[in-house]
Amino acid sequence: MDLNVRSPCRQRERVVVIGAGVAGLSCAKKLMAEEKGRFDVTVLEARERIGGRVSTCDGLEEGANWIHEYVKANPLFELAGQAGMEGVFGDRYSIRVLKGKRRYFFDPGNRLGKALKKIDDIVDSQKVTVDAGSGAVPRISVEQMTEEAAREHCSPDIFSIVMAVLLEIQKQDWAKEPGAVSFQGINAGGVYSFREFGGEDYFIINGMARLIDKLSEGIGVRTGARVVEAAPCNQGVKVSYLFEGKINEILAAHVVSTLPLGVLQSGACSMPLTDRKKLALSRLKMGTAMKIIMQFDKPYWDAGEKSAFWIIIGEERANHVFFNLHKVSEKINTLVGWAVGDEALALEKLQEKEVRSRFLAVLQRHFPECVGENLKDFRIVTWDKDPLTGGAYTHIPLGVSPEEIDVLARPIGRLHFAGEHTSEYLGTLHGAFLSGERAAREIMKESPQSF
Ligand SMILES: Cc1cc2nc3c(=O)[nH]c(=O)nc-3n(C[C@H](O)[C@H](O)[C@H](O)COP(=O)(O)OP(=O)(O)OC[C@H]3O[C@@H](n4cnc5c(N)ncnc54)[C@H](O)[C@@H]3O)c2cc1C
Repeated sequence: MDLNVRSPCRQRERVVVIGAGVAGLSCAKKLMAEEKGRFDVTVLEARERIGGRVSTCDGLEEGANWIHEYVKANPLFELAGQAGMEGVFGDRYSIRVLKGKRRYFFDPGNRLGKALKKIDDIVDSQKVTVDAGSGAVPRISVEQMTEEAAREHCSPDIFSIVMAVLLEIQKQDWAKEPGAVSFQGINAGGVYSFREFGGEDYFIINGMARLIDKLSEGIGVRTGARVVEAAPCNQGVKVSYLFEGKINEILAAHVVSTLPLGVLQSGACSMPLTDRKKLALSRLKMGTAMKIIMQFDKPYWDAGEKSAFWIIIGEERANHVFFNLHKVSEKINTLVGWAVGDEALALEKLQEKEVRSRFLAVLQRHFPECVGENLKDFRIVTWDKDPLTGGAYTHIPLGVSPEEIDVLARPIGRLHFAGEHTSEYLGTLHGAFLSGERAAREIMKESPQSF
Protein backbone atom coordinates (compact mmCIF):
# COMPACT_ATOMS: atom_id res chain seq x y z
CA MET A 1 0.00 0.00 0.00
CA ASP A 2 1.18 3.49 -0.78
CA LEU A 3 0.69 5.27 2.56
CA ASN A 4 2.06 8.69 1.75
CA VAL A 5 -0.54 11.38 1.12
CA ARG A 6 2.23 13.41 -0.50
CA SER A 7 3.94 11.92 -3.49
CA PRO A 8 7.76 11.76 -3.15
CA CYS A 9 8.17 14.00 -6.17
CA ARG A 10 8.15 17.63 -4.90
CA GLN A 11 5.95 16.69 -1.96
CA ARG A 12 2.80 17.17 -3.98
CA GLU A 13 -0.55 16.38 -2.37
CA ARG A 14 -2.08 13.22 -3.74
CA VAL A 15 -5.61 13.32 -5.17
CA VAL A 16 -7.41 10.21 -6.37
CA VAL A 17 -10.31 10.68 -8.79
CA ILE A 18 -12.65 7.71 -9.14
CA GLY A 19 -13.99 7.36 -12.69
CA ALA A 20 -12.68 8.65 -16.02
CA GLY A 21 -15.92 9.94 -17.48
CA VAL A 22 -16.35 13.61 -18.35
CA ALA A 23 -16.67 14.62 -14.65
CA GLY A 24 -13.55 12.75 -13.52
CA LEU A 25 -11.45 13.99 -16.41
CA SER A 26 -12.54 17.63 -16.04
CA CYS A 27 -11.76 17.48 -12.32
CA ALA A 28 -8.29 16.05 -12.96
CA LYS A 29 -7.64 18.56 -15.73
CA LYS A 30 -8.56 21.53 -13.56
CA LEU A 31 -6.43 20.35 -10.64
CA MET A 32 -3.46 19.79 -12.91
CA ALA A 33 -3.76 22.92 -15.01
CA GLU A 34 -4.66 25.62 -12.54
CA GLU A 35 -2.52 24.41 -9.68
CA LYS A 36 0.55 23.36 -11.63
CA GLY A 37 2.73 21.07 -9.59
CA ARG A 38 0.60 21.30 -6.49
CA PHE A 39 -1.35 18.06 -6.83
CA ASP A 40 -0.37 14.58 -7.88
CA VAL A 41 -3.55 13.34 -9.55
CA THR A 42 -4.37 9.68 -10.23
CA VAL A 43 -7.58 8.70 -11.97
CA LEU A 44 -8.83 5.17 -11.34
CA GLU A 45 -11.21 3.81 -13.97
CA ALA A 46 -12.91 0.40 -13.79
CA ARG A 47 -13.38 -0.01 -17.55
CA GLU A 48 -10.60 -0.73 -19.99
CA ARG A 49 -11.47 2.55 -21.74
CA ILE A 50 -12.04 6.14 -20.66
CA GLY A 51 -15.09 8.33 -21.40
CA GLY A 52 -17.79 6.59 -19.34
CA ARG A 53 -21.13 7.37 -20.91
CA VAL A 54 -19.39 8.91 -23.91
CA SER A 55 -18.60 5.95 -26.09
CA THR A 56 -18.06 6.20 -29.83
CA CYS A 57 -17.87 2.85 -31.59
CA ASP A 58 -17.35 2.63 -35.32
CA GLY A 59 -18.34 6.29 -35.86
CA LEU A 60 -21.56 5.89 -33.86
CA GLU A 61 -22.46 7.12 -30.40
CA GLU A 62 -23.43 4.38 -27.98
CA GLY A 63 -24.00 6.94 -25.22
CA ALA A 64 -24.29 10.74 -25.35
CA ASN A 65 -25.33 12.16 -28.72
CA TRP A 66 -25.44 15.94 -28.56
CA ILE A 67 -23.64 18.79 -26.92
CA HIS A 68 -26.70 20.68 -25.76
CA GLU A 69 -26.74 24.44 -26.32
CA TYR A 70 -23.57 24.68 -28.33
CA VAL A 71 -22.61 28.30 -27.65
CA LYS A 72 -19.60 29.97 -26.05
CA ALA A 73 -21.13 29.92 -22.58
CA ASN A 74 -21.22 26.12 -22.68
CA PRO A 75 -17.90 24.91 -21.20
CA LEU A 76 -17.66 22.20 -23.86
CA PHE A 77 -17.75 24.69 -26.72
CA GLU A 78 -14.10 25.69 -26.39
CA LEU A 79 -12.95 22.13 -25.81
CA ALA A 80 -14.80 20.85 -28.88
CA GLY A 81 -13.19 23.66 -30.90
CA GLN A 82 -9.73 22.71 -29.63
CA ALA A 83 -10.44 19.10 -30.55
CA GLY A 84 -11.34 20.24 -34.08
CA MET A 85 -14.75 18.70 -33.86
CA GLU A 86 -17.41 19.44 -36.45
CA GLY A 87 -21.10 18.85 -36.14
CA VAL A 88 -24.61 19.65 -37.24
CA PHE A 89 -26.96 22.06 -35.50
CA GLY A 90 -30.57 22.15 -34.61
CA ASP A 91 -32.07 18.77 -35.23
CA ARG A 92 -34.40 18.87 -32.25
CA TYR A 93 -37.24 20.14 -34.43
CA SER A 94 -36.46 18.24 -37.62
CA ILE A 95 -38.87 15.35 -37.34
CA ARG A 96 -40.96 13.08 -39.50
CA VAL A 97 -43.94 11.40 -37.92
CA LEU A 98 -45.46 8.41 -39.66
CA LYS A 99 -48.74 7.35 -38.16
CA GLY A 100 -50.75 4.82 -40.15
CA LYS A 101 -51.36 6.48 -43.50
CA ARG A 102 -50.73 9.96 -42.12
CA ARG A 103 -47.43 11.80 -42.34
CA TYR A 104 -46.40 14.91 -40.50
CA PHE A 105 -43.30 16.92 -41.32
CA PHE A 106 -41.82 19.06 -38.58
CA ASP A 107 -39.15 21.49 -39.74
CA PRO A 108 -37.82 24.53 -37.86
CA GLY A 109 -39.31 26.75 -40.61
CA ASN A 110 -42.80 25.26 -40.97
CA ARG A 111 -45.96 25.67 -38.90
CA LEU A 112 -45.61 22.38 -37.01
CA GLY A 113 -41.92 22.91 -36.25
CA LYS A 114 -42.53 26.49 -35.10
CA ALA A 115 -45.39 25.40 -32.82
CA LEU A 116 -43.21 22.66 -31.36
CA LYS A 117 -40.39 25.06 -30.61
CA LYS A 118 -42.73 27.67 -29.18
CA ILE A 119 -44.30 25.28 -26.67
CA ASP A 120 -40.91 23.78 -25.82
CA ASP A 121 -39.56 27.30 -25.12
CA ILE A 122 -42.59 28.28 -23.04
CA VAL A 123 -42.29 25.16 -20.90
CA ASP A 124 -38.62 25.90 -20.45
CA SER A 125 -39.17 29.47 -19.36
CA GLN A 126 -41.81 28.62 -16.72
CA LYS A 127 -40.73 28.85 -13.14
CA VAL A 128 -42.32 27.01 -10.26
CA THR A 129 -41.23 28.14 -6.86
CA VAL A 130 -40.48 25.55 -4.26
CA ASP A 131 -41.58 26.77 -0.85
CA ALA A 132 -38.32 26.34 1.03
CA GLY A 133 -39.96 27.08 4.40
CA SER A 134 -42.56 24.32 4.27
CA GLY A 135 -40.29 21.83 2.56
CA ALA A 136 -43.30 20.76 0.50
CA VAL A 137 -42.70 20.03 -3.15
CA PRO A 138 -45.71 20.58 -5.38
CA ARG A 139 -46.36 17.56 -7.57
CA ILE A 140 -46.18 19.17 -10.99
CA SER A 141 -44.86 16.98 -13.77
CA VAL A 142 -43.13 17.95 -17.00
CA GLU A 143 -46.11 16.48 -18.86
CA GLN A 144 -48.60 18.61 -16.92
CA MET A 145 -46.68 21.84 -17.63
CA THR A 146 -46.35 20.90 -21.31
CA GLU A 147 -50.03 20.19 -21.65
CA GLU A 148 -50.97 23.49 -19.99
CA ALA A 149 -48.64 25.41 -22.31
CA ALA A 150 -49.89 23.56 -25.39
CA ARG A 151 -53.56 24.13 -24.49
CA GLU A 152 -52.96 27.85 -24.17
CA HIS A 153 -50.60 28.45 -27.08
CA CYS A 154 -51.22 25.79 -29.71
CA SER A 155 -53.98 25.85 -32.35
CA PRO A 156 -56.56 23.12 -31.71
CA ASP A 157 -56.04 21.56 -35.16
CA ILE A 158 -52.41 20.67 -34.39
CA PHE A 159 -52.63 20.32 -30.60
CA SER A 160 -52.61 16.49 -30.48
CA ILE A 161 -49.72 15.95 -32.83
CA VAL A 162 -47.56 18.74 -31.34
CA MET A 163 -48.26 17.46 -27.84
CA ALA A 164 -47.49 13.84 -28.79
CA VAL A 165 -44.18 14.78 -30.42
CA LEU A 166 -43.11 17.09 -27.62
CA LEU A 167 -43.80 14.43 -24.99
CA GLU A 168 -41.74 12.02 -27.04
CA ILE A 169 -38.81 14.45 -27.17
CA GLN A 170 -39.07 15.13 -23.44
CA LYS A 171 -39.08 11.40 -22.80
CA GLN A 172 -35.70 11.27 -24.55
CA ASP A 173 -34.48 14.25 -22.49
CA TRP A 174 -35.05 12.33 -19.25
CA ALA A 175 -35.02 8.71 -20.40
CA LYS A 176 -38.28 8.58 -18.48
CA GLU A 177 -41.96 9.30 -19.12
CA PRO A 178 -42.48 13.08 -18.64
CA GLY A 179 -45.49 12.36 -16.41
CA ALA A 180 -43.08 10.88 -13.84
CA VAL A 181 -40.51 13.68 -13.96
CA SER A 182 -40.78 16.63 -11.59
CA PHE A 183 -41.15 19.95 -13.34
CA GLN A 184 -39.47 21.66 -10.38
CA GLY A 185 -36.56 19.37 -11.07
CA ILE A 186 -36.01 20.91 -14.45
CA ASN A 187 -36.87 24.45 -13.60
CA ALA A 188 -37.05 25.39 -9.94
CA GLY A 189 -35.92 28.95 -9.78
CA GLY A 190 -33.09 28.27 -12.19
CA VAL A 191 -32.01 24.97 -10.66
CA TYR A 192 -32.09 23.20 -13.96
CA SER A 193 -32.98 24.52 -17.34
CA PHE A 194 -32.49 22.56 -20.47
CA ARG A 195 -31.63 25.73 -22.31
CA GLU A 196 -29.69 27.76 -19.80
CA PHE A 197 -27.02 29.03 -22.20
CA GLY A 198 -29.19 29.50 -25.27
CA GLY A 199 -28.28 28.10 -28.67
CA GLU A 200 -29.05 24.89 -30.43
CA ASP A 201 -28.00 21.33 -29.77
CA TYR A 202 -24.98 20.14 -31.74
CA PHE A 203 -24.50 16.62 -33.04
CA ILE A 204 -20.83 15.83 -33.53
CA ILE A 205 -19.97 14.23 -36.86
CA ASN A 206 -18.47 10.78 -36.39
CA GLY A 207 -18.65 10.88 -32.65
CA MET A 208 -17.42 12.50 -29.48
CA ALA A 209 -14.43 10.26 -28.81
CA ARG A 210 -12.15 13.15 -29.81
CA LEU A 211 -13.65 15.31 -27.07
CA ILE A 212 -12.60 12.70 -24.52
CA ASP A 213 -9.14 12.40 -26.09
CA LYS A 214 -8.69 16.17 -25.81
CA LEU A 215 -10.00 16.31 -22.26
CA SER A 216 -7.72 13.49 -21.11
CA GLU A 217 -4.49 14.90 -22.58
CA GLY A 218 -1.71 14.71 -19.98
CA ILE A 219 -3.89 12.97 -17.36
CA GLY A 220 -2.66 9.71 -15.87
CA VAL A 221 -5.58 7.26 -15.91
CA ARG A 222 -5.23 3.73 -14.56
CA THR A 223 -7.83 1.72 -16.50
CA GLY A 224 -9.09 -1.68 -15.35
CA ALA A 225 -8.95 -0.40 -11.75
CA ARG A 226 -12.30 -0.88 -9.99
CA VAL A 227 -12.55 0.98 -6.72
CA VAL A 228 -14.25 -1.08 -4.02
CA GLU A 229 -13.80 1.18 -1.01
CA ALA A 230 -13.03 4.79 -0.11
CA ALA A 231 -12.49 5.08 3.64
CA PRO A 232 -11.65 8.39 5.30
CA CYS A 233 -8.89 8.12 7.93
CA ASN A 234 -6.73 10.54 9.93
CA GLN A 235 -4.29 11.26 7.12
CA GLY A 236 -6.86 11.54 4.32
CA VAL A 237 -8.82 8.87 2.45
CA LYS A 238 -7.73 5.28 1.86
CA VAL A 239 -8.82 3.95 -1.52
CA SER A 240 -8.93 0.21 -2.24
CA TYR A 241 -9.22 -0.96 -5.82
CA LEU A 242 -9.20 -4.19 -7.72
CA PHE A 243 -6.53 -4.30 -10.42
CA GLU A 244 -5.48 -7.43 -12.32
CA GLY A 245 -7.23 -9.64 -9.79
CA LYS A 246 -5.56 -8.10 -6.73
CA ILE A 247 -6.67 -5.50 -4.22
CA ASN A 248 -4.38 -2.45 -4.18
CA GLU A 249 -4.52 0.41 -1.70
CA ILE A 250 -3.59 4.01 -2.07
CA LEU A 251 -3.75 6.79 0.51
CA ALA A 252 -4.76 10.18 -0.81
CA ALA A 253 -5.13 13.60 0.78
CA HIS A 254 -8.37 14.06 -1.16
CA VAL A 255 -10.63 11.75 -3.14
CA VAL A 256 -13.24 12.69 -5.72
CA SER A 257 -15.94 10.13 -6.46
CA THR A 258 -17.60 10.50 -9.85
CA LEU A 259 -19.36 7.15 -9.49
CA PRO A 260 -22.70 7.41 -11.31
CA LEU A 261 -25.93 7.55 -9.31
CA GLY A 262 -26.76 3.92 -10.15
CA VAL A 263 -23.37 2.73 -8.89
CA LEU A 264 -23.71 4.70 -5.64
CA GLN A 265 -27.21 3.26 -5.17
CA SER A 266 -25.98 -0.30 -5.74
CA GLY A 267 -23.46 -0.03 -2.89
CA ALA A 268 -20.81 -1.69 -5.12
CA CYS A 269 -18.24 0.72 -3.72
CA SER A 270 -18.19 1.05 0.05
CA MET A 271 -18.19 4.64 1.36
CA PRO A 272 -19.21 6.19 4.68
CA LEU A 273 -22.27 8.08 3.42
CA THR A 274 -24.30 10.27 5.75
CA ASP A 275 -27.95 9.37 6.38
CA ARG A 276 -28.98 12.50 4.49
CA LYS A 277 -26.95 11.45 1.46
CA LYS A 278 -28.44 7.96 1.62
CA LEU A 279 -31.92 9.50 1.65
CA ALA A 280 -31.09 11.62 -1.41
CA LEU A 281 -29.75 8.51 -3.16
CA SER A 282 -33.01 6.70 -2.51
CA ARG A 283 -35.08 9.60 -3.87
CA LEU A 284 -33.31 10.33 -7.14
CA LYS A 285 -33.57 8.02 -10.13
CA MET A 286 -31.80 7.23 -13.36
CA GLY A 287 -33.86 6.68 -16.50
CA THR A 288 -33.45 3.78 -18.92
CA ALA A 289 -32.18 4.01 -22.49
CA MET A 290 -31.52 1.49 -25.21
CA LYS A 291 -30.01 2.06 -28.65
CA ILE A 292 -30.82 -0.28 -31.50
CA ILE A 293 -28.23 0.31 -34.19
CA MET A 294 -29.31 -0.76 -37.67
CA GLN A 295 -27.18 -0.30 -40.75
CA PHE A 296 -28.72 -1.18 -44.10
CA ASP A 297 -26.99 -1.69 -47.42
CA LYS A 298 -28.92 1.29 -48.82
CA PRO A 299 -31.09 4.07 -47.37
CA TYR A 300 -34.55 2.64 -47.94
CA TRP A 301 -36.31 5.56 -46.31
CA ASP A 302 -37.30 8.20 -48.86
CA ALA A 303 -35.69 11.56 -49.55
CA GLY A 304 -37.98 13.43 -47.15
CA GLU A 305 -37.08 11.14 -44.30
CA LYS A 306 -33.41 11.16 -45.25
CA SER A 307 -33.06 14.82 -44.37
CA ALA A 308 -34.89 14.57 -41.06
CA PHE A 309 -33.03 13.69 -37.96
CA TRP A 310 -35.83 11.96 -36.09
CA ILE A 311 -38.33 9.56 -37.52
CA ILE A 312 -41.17 8.76 -35.17
CA ILE A 313 -43.37 5.87 -36.14
CA GLY A 314 -46.57 6.08 -34.15
CA GLU A 315 -48.25 2.86 -33.22
CA GLU A 316 -51.05 1.82 -30.91
CA ARG A 317 -48.72 0.26 -28.35
CA ALA A 318 -45.84 2.73 -28.39
CA ASN A 319 -44.04 5.18 -30.60
CA HIS A 320 -40.87 3.93 -32.21
CA VAL A 321 -38.18 6.55 -32.50
CA PHE A 322 -35.31 6.38 -34.95
CA PHE A 323 -32.40 8.75 -35.41
CA ASN A 324 -31.43 9.09 -39.03
CA LEU A 325 -27.65 9.50 -39.11
CA HIS A 326 -27.46 10.36 -42.79
CA LYS A 327 -25.80 13.73 -42.17
CA VAL A 328 -23.73 12.99 -39.11
CA SER A 329 -21.94 9.67 -39.40
CA GLU A 330 -19.57 8.00 -41.80
CA LYS A 331 -21.49 4.86 -40.97
CA ILE A 332 -23.92 5.54 -43.77
CA ASN A 333 -27.40 4.15 -44.28
CA THR A 334 -27.90 3.86 -40.55
CA LEU A 335 -30.96 4.30 -38.43
CA VAL A 336 -30.59 4.17 -34.67
CA GLY A 337 -33.68 3.00 -32.83
CA TRP A 338 -33.88 4.77 -29.51
CA ALA A 339 -36.06 3.41 -26.74
CA VAL A 340 -36.29 5.02 -23.32
CA GLY A 341 -38.27 4.70 -20.10
CA ASP A 342 -40.87 1.92 -19.84
CA GLU A 343 -40.42 0.94 -23.47
CA ALA A 344 -36.70 0.29 -22.92
CA LEU A 345 -37.46 -1.70 -19.76
CA ALA A 346 -39.92 -3.87 -21.72
CA LEU A 347 -37.42 -4.40 -24.57
CA GLU A 348 -34.70 -5.44 -22.11
CA LYS A 349 -36.80 -8.47 -21.24
CA LEU A 350 -36.72 -9.68 -24.85
CA GLN A 351 -34.03 -11.63 -26.65
CA GLU A 352 -31.90 -9.74 -29.16
CA LYS A 353 -33.56 -11.47 -32.13
CA GLU A 354 -37.00 -10.45 -30.86
CA VAL A 355 -35.95 -6.79 -30.60
CA ARG A 356 -34.49 -7.03 -34.09
CA SER A 357 -37.72 -8.50 -35.53
CA ARG A 358 -39.83 -5.91 -33.79
CA PHE A 359 -37.86 -2.91 -35.05
CA LEU A 360 -37.59 -4.35 -38.56
CA ALA A 361 -41.33 -5.01 -38.66
CA VAL A 362 -42.10 -1.43 -37.60
CA LEU A 363 -39.78 0.02 -40.25
CA GLN A 364 -41.01 -2.34 -42.92
CA ARG A 365 -44.56 -1.09 -42.62
CA HIS A 366 -43.37 2.24 -44.01
CA PHE A 367 -40.20 1.28 -45.86
CA PRO A 368 -40.84 -2.21 -47.30
CA GLU A 369 -37.20 -2.90 -48.15
CA CYS A 370 -36.03 -2.53 -44.56
CA VAL A 371 -35.84 -6.29 -44.15
CA GLY A 372 -33.36 -8.59 -42.45
CA GLU A 373 -31.55 -9.51 -45.68
CA ASN A 374 -30.69 -5.87 -46.29
CA LEU A 375 -29.37 -5.32 -42.79
CA LYS A 376 -25.56 -5.14 -42.68
CA ASP A 377 -25.10 -4.48 -39.00
CA PHE A 378 -27.34 -4.80 -35.96
CA ARG A 379 -26.36 -4.01 -32.39
CA ILE A 380 -28.12 -3.23 -29.13
CA VAL A 381 -26.59 -1.01 -26.45
CA THR A 382 -28.21 -0.84 -23.02
CA TRP A 383 -27.05 1.23 -20.07
CA ASP A 384 -29.05 0.31 -16.99
CA LYS A 385 -27.80 -3.29 -17.04
CA ASP A 386 -24.24 -1.95 -17.04
CA PRO A 387 -22.99 -2.28 -13.42
CA LEU A 388 -20.57 0.61 -13.97
CA THR A 389 -23.44 3.01 -14.73
CA GLY A 390 -26.70 1.47 -13.53
CA GLY A 391 -28.91 3.63 -15.77
CA ALA A 392 -28.83 6.20 -18.53
CA TYR A 393 -28.93 9.57 -16.73
CA THR A 394 -30.50 11.18 -13.69
CA HIS A 395 -33.91 12.81 -13.34
CA ILE A 396 -35.83 14.15 -10.39
CA PRO A 397 -38.99 12.09 -9.92
CA LEU A 398 -42.35 13.70 -9.32
CA GLY A 399 -42.66 14.96 -5.73
CA VAL A 400 -38.89 15.03 -5.10
CA SER A 401 -37.09 18.28 -4.41
CA PRO A 402 -34.17 19.52 -6.57
CA GLU A 403 -32.37 20.06 -3.25
CA GLU A 404 -31.48 16.34 -3.32
CA ILE A 405 -28.96 17.09 -6.06
CA ASP A 406 -27.16 19.59 -3.79
CA VAL A 407 -27.13 17.01 -1.02
CA LEU A 408 -25.38 14.52 -3.31
CA ALA A 409 -22.81 17.15 -4.25
CA ARG A 410 -21.76 17.91 -0.65
CA PRO A 411 -18.34 16.61 0.40
CA ILE A 412 -17.90 14.35 3.41
CA GLY A 413 -14.61 15.51 4.89
CA ARG A 414 -11.98 14.97 2.23
CA LEU A 415 -14.23 12.77 0.13
CA HIS A 416 -15.74 14.88 -2.66
CA PHE A 417 -18.52 14.09 -5.12
CA ALA A 418 -18.94 14.98 -8.78
CA GLY A 419 -20.78 13.55 -11.79
CA GLU A 420 -23.86 14.57 -13.76
CA HIS A 421 -26.11 13.56 -10.81
CA THR A 422 -24.46 16.22 -8.61
CA SER A 423 -24.89 19.04 -11.10
CA GLU A 424 -27.59 21.63 -11.57
CA TYR A 425 -27.44 20.59 -15.26
CA LEU A 426 -28.09 16.97 -14.40
CA GLY A 427 -28.17 14.38 -17.13
CA THR A 428 -25.84 16.29 -19.43
CA LEU A 429 -22.23 16.33 -20.54
CA HIS A 430 -21.72 19.96 -19.60
CA GLY A 431 -23.28 19.24 -16.18
CA ALA A 432 -20.75 16.44 -15.64
CA PHE A 433 -17.91 18.70 -16.80
CA LEU A 434 -18.88 21.58 -14.49
CA SER A 435 -19.36 19.25 -11.51
CA GLY A 436 -15.78 17.98 -11.95
CA GLU A 437 -14.45 21.53 -11.96
CA ARG A 438 -16.52 22.34 -8.88
CA ALA A 439 -15.02 19.40 -6.96
CA ALA A 440 -11.52 20.53 -8.01
CA ARG A 441 -12.23 24.03 -6.66
CA GLU A 442 -13.40 22.53 -3.35
CA ILE A 443 -10.06 20.76 -3.01
CA MET A 444 -8.03 23.85 -3.90
CA LYS A 445 -9.91 25.82 -1.25
CA GLU A 446 -9.46 23.10 1.34
CA SER A 447 -5.79 22.75 0.66
CA PRO A 448 -4.00 26.08 1.20
CA GLN A 449 -0.93 26.69 -0.92
CA SER A 450 1.50 26.14 1.93
CA PHE A 451 3.95 23.78 0.33
C1 LIG B 1 -27.69 6.71 -24.08
C2 LIG B 1 -27.28 8.04 -23.50
C3 LIG B 1 -27.48 9.19 -24.23
C4 LIG B 1 -27.08 10.44 -23.72
N1 LIG B 1 -27.23 11.56 -24.49
C5 LIG B 1 -26.73 12.73 -24.04
C6 LIG B 1 -26.70 13.87 -24.90
O1 LIG B 1 -27.11 13.79 -26.06
N2 LIG B 1 -26.20 15.03 -24.41
C7 LIG B 1 -25.73 15.14 -23.13
O2 LIG B 1 -25.30 16.24 -22.74
N3 LIG B 1 -25.72 14.07 -22.31
C8 LIG B 1 -26.19 12.88 -22.74
N4 LIG B 1 -26.14 11.78 -21.94
C9 LIG B 1 -25.67 11.95 -20.55
C10 LIG B 1 -24.15 12.05 -20.48
O3 LIG B 1 -23.58 10.99 -21.20
C11 LIG B 1 -23.74 11.98 -19.02
O4 LIG B 1 -24.41 12.99 -18.30
C12 LIG B 1 -22.25 12.15 -18.80
O5 LIG B 1 -21.49 11.45 -19.74
C13 LIG B 1 -21.94 11.66 -17.39
O6 LIG B 1 -20.57 11.82 -17.11
P1 LIG B 1 -20.03 11.40 -15.68
O7 LIG B 1 -18.56 11.61 -15.69
O8 LIG B 1 -20.84 12.05 -14.63
O9 LIG B 1 -20.37 9.83 -15.56
P2 LIG B 1 -19.79 8.61 -16.41
O10 LIG B 1 -19.53 9.01 -17.82
O11 LIG B 1 -20.72 7.49 -16.20
O12 LIG B 1 -18.38 8.33 -15.72
C14 LIG B 1 -18.25 7.60 -14.53
C15 LIG B 1 -17.07 6.65 -14.70
O13 LIG B 1 -16.91 5.91 -13.48
C16 LIG B 1 -16.50 4.60 -13.84
N5 LIG B 1 -16.76 3.71 -12.70
C17 LIG B 1 -17.94 3.17 -12.30
N6 LIG B 1 -17.74 2.43 -11.20
C18 LIG B 1 -16.42 2.48 -10.91
C19 LIG B 1 -15.59 1.95 -9.87
N7 LIG B 1 -16.12 1.18 -8.89
N8 LIG B 1 -14.28 2.22 -9.87
C20 LIG B 1 -13.72 3.01 -10.84
N9 LIG B 1 -14.46 3.55 -11.85
C21 LIG B 1 -15.78 3.31 -11.86
C22 LIG B 1 -17.35 4.29 -15.06
O14 LIG B 1 -16.80 3.23 -15.80
C23 LIG B 1 -17.29 5.62 -15.80
O15 LIG B 1 -16.22 5.67 -16.72
C24 LIG B 1 -26.49 10.52 -22.44
C25 LIG B 1 -26.28 9.35 -21.70
C26 LIG B 1 -26.67 8.12 -22.23
C27 LIG B 1 -26.44 6.87 -21.43
